[in-house]
Amino acid sequence: MAEQKIIEAISNLKEDKIKEILLYKGKEQEFLFEAARKIREKSKFQNKVELRSVIELSNICSQKCRYCSISKDGKPSFVLSKEVVLNNVDFLAKKGRRTFLLQSGENSNQKFVDDVAYCCSEITKKYPDSKIILCLGNLSYEQYRLLKESGASRYILKFETSDSKHHKFCRPSDTIENRLKHIETLLELGFQVGSGNIVGLPEQTLDNLIADLKLINKLELSMVSATRFISSENSEFKNYSNGDIDLTLNFLAILRILKPNCLIPSTTSLAINKNQGQINGLMAGCNTITIHDGTPEEFEKNYAIYSQNRFSPNEQYCREIIEQCKLEASNYLI
Ligand code: SF4
Repeated sequence: MAEQKIIEAISNLKEDKIKEILLYKGKEQEFLFEAARKIREKSKFQNKVELRSVIELSNICSQKCRYCSISKDGKPSFVLSKEVVLNNVDFLAKKGRRTFLLQSGENSNQKFVDDVAYCCSEITKKYPDSKIILCLGNLSYEQYRLLKESGASRYILKFETSDSKHHKFCRPSDTIENRLKHIETLLELGFQVGSGNIVGLPEQTLDNLIADLKLINKLELSMVSATRFISSENSEFKNYSNGDIDLTLNFLAILRILKPNCLIPSTTSLAINKNQGQINGLMAGCNTITIHDGTPEEFEKNYAIYSQNRFSPNEQYCREIIEQCKLEASNYLI
């Protein structure tokens, strides 16, 4: 398909064509990535890549996602104290970092949320030029409001899979309808919201992926994402194979064409079992990279969402891959 035809088919969400595009390999795939890069170049962020720093606050989670091994691997549970979080933010800020992603398993315990809110207001006071992104799962309206008023400007709440039956199969402790209500609440409160799916989940069909694209297209998102399913050794899905890298990269390129002005991360799920996986994500149109040096080492090994053998990219690696792709690192883009 010629480049303009690819862009048209994706922009108009032509299902049959998108199914073909999702399966592209070789030359056709390179053509797709090139189209995605051109769209990124013309977007409001052009060739800039947001370089953010993650701090993993806690591995306690009330959900039971079957693809996740958090708190199923016999690892001790942890919650970072406010002091540790703020010390780590100082450590990162001294290196010049200004986008802090505070991530945790889902924990609506009020003391936990109050502590996160305290950290947000301290960070905002000390580093007024910083951005705080939260990824804490489903919370109450009042808790979201508190966090927003404390200085967090963005919230990531992935829907993971939009088909309600498939969602129940993968995330039996939640429903897609409930997840979408939370996303709507976050938007109503004025958060810049991020959401997306996992590509390659067990029992997932191409029709499921098309439905995910349609949902992403409908939501007013500032950040969109697609991570690759990783068969984590302690999860209920441990006997399934990892998601296909090419399918994930094609999905990411389609996302870029569909959402030119959104942040799209090239995640470490692309880097497992394939060297330079995150470079491929950037070459497929992504524009966000996360540095994993904000969680104290003794806790990081207990935060196993993907796998025990997770890859934790440091700053040097992240900057090098951005440079290799002829892109420019930026402290934040929104
Ligand atoms: S994927 Fe997230 S919400 Fe689901 S069990 Fe793991 S940490 Fe909890």
